[in-house]
Amino acid sequence: MNLGNDREMEERYDRQLRVKGWDQEKISNATVCIWGVGALGTFVAAELAMMGVGRLVLIDFDTVEVSNLNRQLLYREKDVGRNKAEVAAERIKEINKNVMIDVFQTSIEEVPMSVYRKVDVFVGALDSFEARRWANSLAVQLRKPLVSGGMYGFLGQVQVIIPFETACFECQPLVPSSKLSQVCTPPGETRKEKLKFKLPEAPIPGLATMSGIVGSLMTQEVAKLILNIGKTITYLFIDGLNNSFTEIELSRNPSCPLCGEKYQLSKVKITLEENEKIDSVINRLKLTYGLNKPKIAWKGKLLSPDKLVKDYGIISGDSLLVIDNAIVKPIKLIASINDKSQT
Ligand SMILES: [Zn+2]
Repeated sequence: MNLGNDREMEERYDRQLRVKGWDQEKISNATVCIWGVGALGTFVAAELAMMGVGRLVLIDFDTVEVSNLNRQLLYREKDVGRNKAEVAAERIKEINKNVMIDVFQTSIEEVPMSVYRKVDVFVGALDSFEARRWANSLAVQLRKPLVSGGMYGFLGQVQVIIPFETACFECQPLVPSSKLSQVCTPPGETRKEKLKFKLPEAPIPGLATMSGIVGSLMTQEVAKLILNIGKTITYLFIDGLNNSFTEIELSRNPSCPLCGEKYQLSKVKITLEENEKIDSVINRLKLTYGLNKPKIAWKGKLLSPDKLVKDYGIISGDSLLVIDNAIVKPIKLIASINDKSQT
């Protein structure tokens, strides 16, 4: 983060610097990735910008719709039809010009792994059950904390996942897909074509107040994680109509298919031909594991289907990761290269 001049910074952050345990340097050095810049995501993004977070990675392919304006903090009437992540980035710069922002107008699974590896805390403000599972899986794979939230009318929930310490989504699945809201449509595209993840049936009730309450609780958890202070929420249920906050202590499930120990070490050996196209490897994976649209990552990069195995210089013993929305946990592949020219 560009800290600007010291005096300006001291003045800007004066009130939070007075908070016990606050360390502006930690906040200013942190990178937070926000998956979904809708109701919850706009509150989290705005508040982290006010706090002076170093870098925000904003990911959303949706466009602003009129029906978003009742609860999504960063959007105005004139923004209708524009990409959410792009508009959010502009508004955040107005709040705090020092925050560095990366915008991805794509689905969450299309963002390069190299971007995700640099993130300190993930924020899941997602509206599809499949996307949430994918996000959880990635956070566990990368061993980075995930602060996730959801809401339904006056009800809300916040869950913080610290991989291998607290329960992940798959340990104690609590959120039924029927409670998740509908997404909007990118300009010029019909809804289903663009989406990798299945859509819920109908819009859910949503309020500005609960967006703020749940979003702010999420931001606060992000700040606590960065500062390493306080007690982290494992699962908090909020009933805004009856004024109750219920904290549920979720425990990890030893047989969790994602973070359970006995499932952690599974590796698969795969033979690759040097002149084989990555696309052919992908097809083999589809057939072997019943995957939908697998992607192969190696050294933090997604492999391009059009290239050949030899283009990447993969050698025997290298370990590759396969991600797909049909599987909870990425498959680890150990490459064995079959060099036909030498046999
Ligand atoms: Zn788990």
